[in-house]
Amino acid sequence: MQVAVFSTRAHDRQFLDTANEAAGSQHDIRYFEAHLNLATAGLAEGASAICPFVNDQIGPAVLKRLSSQGVRLVALRGAGFNNVDLAAAEALGIKIGRVPAYSPYAIAEHAIALILSLNRKIYRAYARVREGNFSLDGLLGFDLHGKTVGIVGTGRIGITLARIVSGFGCEIVGADPVESAELRTIGGRYVSLDELLACSDIVTLHCPLTPETRHLIGPGAVAKMKRGVMLINTSRGAVVDTRAIIDGLKAGKIGNLGLDVYEEEGDLFFEDLSDQVIQDDAFARLLTFPNVLITGHQAFFTREALQAIAETTIANLTEFEASGCPLHPVSAERHVWPSAST
Ligand code: NAD
Repeated sequence: MQVAVFSTRAHDRQFLDTANEAAGSQHDIRYFEAHLNLATAGLAEGASAICPFVNDQIGPAVLKRLSSQGVRLVALRGAGFNNVDLAAAEALGIKIGRVPAYSPYAIAEHAIALILSLNRKIYRAYARVREGNFSLDGLLGFDLHGKTVGIVGTGRIGITLARIVSGFGCEIVGADPVESAELRTIGGRYVSLDELLACSDIVTLHCPLTPETRHLIGPGAVAKMKRGVMLINTSRGAVVDTRAIIDGLKAGKIGNLGLDVYEEEGDLFFEDLSDQVIQDDAFARLLTFPNVLITGHQAFFTREALQAIAETTIANLTEFEASGCPLHPVSAERHVWPSAST
């Protein structure tokens, strides 16, 4: 099957080619660096499937264009599907496949890296020591042992993180409409979101982006948090209202902020913009805080995760060719596209 891969980086090509070869080179894969949008959809001419990345916006107009060119499958290279209008795809007869689970360790371990780096100010210490500045002023951290970690979303990644922080001797509380017995096995307990916000020293977000979770962490949620709380977001940027967390940081309510995702990241992340002026004022403001650590959506970026993503993507393509349905389909009732016009 001919497949058009969008938002390609060297690692995508490397891992997808290896997985395709291992599966008998059944697919003719064409790689494009361009993001998928209405202007670039034509690159998929001749392809039956497209393979977009997290910040490619696959709304009704793009889907209509792809459908008219003969595309019948969107094989997402990730777990999240908030960037696809599932109802429009279904109406056009386009199937959506995804990679529901690749390495929960990759994301949970990155969240831990943010927690430890922020707490012990490793990013500041690294820069200082290189400058010959060995002062400890401003580097004071706290013991993780005995602190309460609030996990919003106790699915695969949330539970993996719970296991890690239980090793640090943390108290664990979770908030999730679907409770997992495993959290209790680890020694955690379920509370309401309000209770979690009120009692946690560290709040870490691991729920998907849905209409219900958009701006879940807004001014109201920030007000309910402990003074000096550490907030970590490795889920999706729009789960957090950026203005609310900037206000929370300025007021000292949020003591530390670690982000791997940002609500307007589509215009920034995955590109080298180091010689350009950042036009996003909210993002630029976030960069000015000494207690904010931002990574550019790299939590998934481990060898094991990329290999698993590539193998499952190839399996989705192969199964679709054989049966007309990808191995891991996404159905329309699971998500409502936020805007009908894009
Ligand atoms: P999962 O489906 O296993 O778990 C998600 C959990 O969130 C589920 O238990 C669900 O019930 C819960 N949830 C849904 N709505 C909620 C709400 N309103 N409040 C609290 N919990 C809620 O998914 P996962 O594999 O653990 O991934 C979680 C999220 O992590 C993904 O949806 C994706 O957005 C994000 N992610 C980020 C990266 C990255 O590189 N930063 C990589 C992979 C996944």
